[in-house]
Amino acid sequence: MSDDTPPAAGTELAVVSPPARAGSDSIARLLVRRGIISEAQLVYAKRVQAKLVSDRSLIEILKDLRQLTGDQLADALKSEPLDIRLGDLLVELGRIRGGDLEAALTIQRETGTHRKLGDILVEYGFIDEQQLIEILASKLGFPFVMPSFAQVDRELLRQVPPKMFSQNCFLPVERRNGRVLVAFADPLDLEDREAADRIFGRLVLPAIAPRPTIREAIELYRRGIQRAPVPEADDSTVVGLVNGLLDEAMQQGVSDIHIEPMKDRLRVRFRRDGVLAVHREFNLDLAPPVTTRLKVMAEADIAERRRHQDGRILYESAATGAALDLRVSFYITVHGEKIVLRLMNKKGELLALEDIGMAPRMLQQFRDEALQCPSGIMIVTGPTGAGKTTTLYSCVNALNDLETSIITAEEPVEYVIDGISQCSINPKIGVTFTETLRHIVRQDPDIIVMGEVRDAFSAETAIQAALTGHKVLTTFHTEDTVGGLLRLLNMGVEAFLIASTITCVVAQRLLRRVCPKCAVPYTPTPEEYRRLGYTHGDLAGAELMIGRGCAACRFTGYKGRVGIFELLILSEPVKEAVMARKTTHEIRRLSIESAGLVTLFEDGIAKAARGKVSLPEVLKRLPRLDRPRPLFELRRLLGE
Ligand SMILES: [Zn+2]
Repeated sequence: MSDDTPPAAGTELAVVSPPARAGSDSIARLLVRRGIISEAQLVYAKRVQAKLVSDRSLIEILKDLRQLTGDQLADALKSEPLDIRLGDLLVELGRIRGGDLEAALTIQRETGTHRKLGDILVEYGFIDEQQLIEILASKLGFPFVMPSFAQVDRELLRQVPPKMFSQNCFLPVERRNGRVLVAFADPLDLEDREAADRIFGRLVLPAIAPRPTIREAIELYRRGIQRAPVPEADDSTVVGLVNGLLDEAMQQGVSDIHIEPMKDRLRVRFRRDGVLAVHREFNLDLAPPVTTRLKVMAEADIAERRRHQDGRILYESAATGAALDLRVSFYITVHGEKIVLRLMNKKGELLALEDIGMAPRMLQQFRDEALQCPSGIMIVTGPTGAGKTTTLYSCVNALNDLETSIITAEEPVEYVIDGISQCSINPKIGVTFTETLRHIVRQDPDIIVMGEVRDAFSAETAIQAALTGHKVLTTFHTEDTVGGLLRLLNMGVEAFLIASTITCVVAQRLLRRVCPKCAVPYTPTPEEYRRLGYTHGDLAGAELMIGRGCAACRFTGYKGRVGIFELLILSEPVKEAVMARKTTHEIRRLSIESAGLVTLFEDGIAKAARGKVSLPEVLKRLPRLDRPRPLFELRRLLGE
C-alpha cells in the first residue's frame, strides 16, 4: 500500500469503486454527517477498500487508517436511529463478510417465509448469539436484559395476540417510567419493531435479550394459556386435585412437594422450613393419573415409565391468579414414579442483611471487612439447604444501587431482584455455566454473582474477575470456612492467588427456631455438658429453651429457622498461613486468635443460650471441632 497516500484536493480517483451493496456505507455516511470523518477521508477509505484483495469493511479500514476509534463509532451509532438492516450493519462493522450475508439471505429465501435473518446467521454459524448481542448492545446502545419468565409482566403479555409470538421474536418485560420495556432478539428487525409498536404504541423502549431466553419465556407462557381453560377443575378430578396441591403449597410457603407412591397409598409431603411433613395421603389408584397429569404439565414423556425424567411447569392459579414456576423430577422407584416439585422464583422472601441472623459484631465485621471491599471474592459455604442462597441474595440486595452493575449466573435463578441482570443457567437451551462465565465479564459488571464454584474453571473465572477489580459473590459446598480455603487449594488454585483474592468465607447452617408460643426452659443433661466440653460455669447466664409443641408449630416445637454463622476474614496472618500451606488446624487456630473467628458450634451455643434454637439441635447438627470457649467469652466476641 506504498502508493496509497491520503488524497490531496482535486486528485482524480482513477479507481472505479466496485458495485457496493445498497446501504453498505450508511454508517460511514453517518460518520461524515456527524463530522467525525471528512468526505475526503471516506472517499480515500473506499479507494483503499477497492484495492484490497480481502473482503474488508469500510469501518475496519477507517479504523486501520486511524481515522476512527471504537468510541467515536459507538457514540455516532447511538446518536440517531439508523435505518439499516441487521445484516448490512454486521457487514459494515466487519463482523460478517458480504459473502456470508448473501448466503444467509439465500437460505432465508429458500427455506421459508418467516425465518428471521438473525436466526439464520446464528443457526448457520455465521456469527454466535453472544457476539450478535454484544454488537447490538454495545454498538447501538440497546440495553441488555435477561428476562426470566417470573419477572415478565403478565398484563403486558396478555396484550400480545398469540399468533404474533410465533411470527415475531420479542417479549414485553415490564413497565418502566411510563414506557414498556420490550426485549427483542434483533432490535433492528423492522417487522418485529412494528409489531411491538402496533400493540404498545410509541411507548416501546427497545432492549435486547438472547433469542433462546425470549423463546423460552414465550414457550412457557404459551403452555400456560393452553392449559388455562380447564372447566371441571375441582377436587373431584385429577386436574383439580393437582391444582389444589399446588395452590396449597403456594399458600403455605412450601419449598418442595414430594409425591410418593408407597406400597399401599400415595403420600404427599411438603417441605417447609427445611423439614418434610406429610400433607395428605391418597388412594394408590390415583398415582398413575396424577403422574400423567404432571407429565403433561411438564411436557415430559407420558409413555416413559422406566426412566428418570425432568421438566418444568409454569402454573397459574385460577384461584388466586398467582404464578408459580416449578422444576419437576420424575424418579423411578420400586413402587412407581416418585415426583418432586421444587417451587422456584419465590418473590418477597428476601431478607435484609441485618435480618439473616448474624450476631452484631460479626455482622459489623462482615460489612466493614468484606462487603465494603471494592473487589475480591466472598464465599458462602455449607451443605445443601444451609441457607447459602438467601445469604447471597441478602448481600446482593445490600449492594444493589444505581451506581453498581450486578450480573449473575445462577442455576437456576431462585429470587428475582429488581435492578440486577440475572441469568438462569439452562443447558437444555444452550445456556451452559461455562459459556455464561466466559461472557459475563464482557458485560462490564462491578459485581458478579456466581451461583456456585463447582470446578477449577469456575474457580479460575472467579479469581480472574477478582484480580481485574471485580467483586465476586459465590457459594461452595464445604463443612466450614477453613474447609472452603482447602477445597480451593485442592482444586489446584495457587495459594498466593487464594490469599490475594479471597476476602472472606462465611460458613452457614440453618437450625430450627424454637417455637416462641410453647417454649419452656431447658436444663442440659450431664451427657450434654460432657459433649459440649463444658462445666456448669461455662454456660452461666444461658437461657436455654425448648418447644413443647402446640397448634402454632403443628406440635413440632419448632417454627421457622435461624441462621448459624462462622465468619473467616482473611487477615494477614491467615493469608500467610494459607501461602505456607499450613494445616487446617493451624489455620483455624490463627483465625480464632487473629481474626476473631467464632466457630459454627460456638455461634450455635450462643443462639441456644438466647433460647432461639435448642441445645439438642446444636449438638446434633453443628460440627464440633475444638472445645468451645465459655459462653461469656463468646458473647463478648459476638457483641451480644
Ligand atoms: Zn409451638
